[in-house]
Amino acid sequence: LAEAALVARVNGTVQDLDRPLECDTDLELLDFSTPEGREAFWRSSACVLGAVAEQFFGATLCSTRATEDGFFCDVHMGSRTVQSVELPALEEACATFARARHRFERLEATRQQLAELLQSEYRARGFSEVVTPNLFSPQLWELSGHWQHYSPHIFSVPATPETLSLKPMNCPAHCLMFAHRPRSWRELPLRLADFGVLHRNEPPGTLTGLTRVRRFQQDDAHIFCTLEQLESEIDSSLDFIRTVYAVLGFSFRLALATRPDGFLGDPETWDRAEQQLERSLQNFGQPWELSPGDGAFYGPKIDIQIRDALGRQHQCGTIQLDFQMPERFELEYASPSGGPARPVLVHRAVLGSVERMVAVLAESCGGRWPLWLSPLQAVVIPQTPEVEDYARE
Ligand SMILES: [Zn+2]
Repeated sequence: LAEAALVARVNGTVQDLDRPLECDTDLELLDFSTPEGREAFWRSSACVLGAVAEQFFGATLCSTRATEDGFFCDVHMGSRTVQSVELPALEEACATFARARHRFERLEATRQQLAELLQSEYRARGFSEVVTPNLFSPQLWELSGHWQHYSPHIFSVPATPETLSLKPMNCPAHCLMFAHRPRSWRELPLRLADFGVLHRNEPPGTLTGLTRVRRFQQDDAHIFCTLEQLESEIDSSLDFIRTVYAVLGFSFRLALATRPDGFLGDPETWDRAEQQLERSLQNFGQPWELSPGDGAFYGPKIDIQIRDALGRQHQCGTIQLDFQMPERFELEYASPSGGPARPVLVHRAVLGSVERMVAVLAESCGGRWPLWLSPLQAVVIPQTPEVEDYARE
């Protein structure tokens, strides 16, 4: 039995044989005659084939899977193809690999490490990290304007005597935080960062892997500032993006999206804001494009597209000006002259959805994670049997 067992069923759940039993347990050991045993064996076989294909053909492993009657590997080899005369040698290489009895280990890269990268930058760049509720009254979304445009995507929960909504974005909560007491110009710019959990009711057909999900987190932040402070805030936001993308190994393209038809607000404020964004882009010193009319109706924005290692474009970060939300929430601060003034709101994210960024990174590095993010940081290889104990230590 010890020789034939492939996988264990512990209290109804299939798990690896080397996992400790931690409580009183219903235990079944499954061999190749069971569907679960065959699946475990073929899944391991697919991993062996994938690893050998990487060494043998220099292939990039895309996915491995067990099927009902065997297993397969998807690999990318550019223009190279596999010849049938190569198969015996490939099979022998798999057999050698299997005889070496490598451990199968499930390693997980976590999005928490990405969040920690951002948090360390928040501390250095004067952001305050805040926590806001998940549930709000729909009245909040009516006030922010999201209800009119966005309500089909907002999950609602009956909570007697009223109905509450799961937040799809953090901005209105941050506006409430700004408004909860009188503010002075001395407090600006106020930068609030939030990893709050967001829910959006995406249609089932659009959900894919980690790139579009219904529950996700953003490295979301909102900057409340004066129109005069806008340029330096945009400068620092661009610098923030450059710093983080350099760590992740992405190059990126920038585009300035200006006012669309039917924009809200007065044209002079728009002119001034667009000029400030343009100056920031010039100061940044990297080429950028103009996307006339692509801004949101509530403000102009800088679109940031990253290029991954395979040359694909992804929209992740954004820097978005908003003149409307401060109006709707009647946000005010006491100006240096004492009179009330309205702040400008900047929505900004570097990673965008942290879940989607994990997916983009995983695809981009092909499983060869950058060391700081890698679940397998180092392997110690003893050169002779005499030093094995020391190596283990
Ligand atoms: Zn926002």
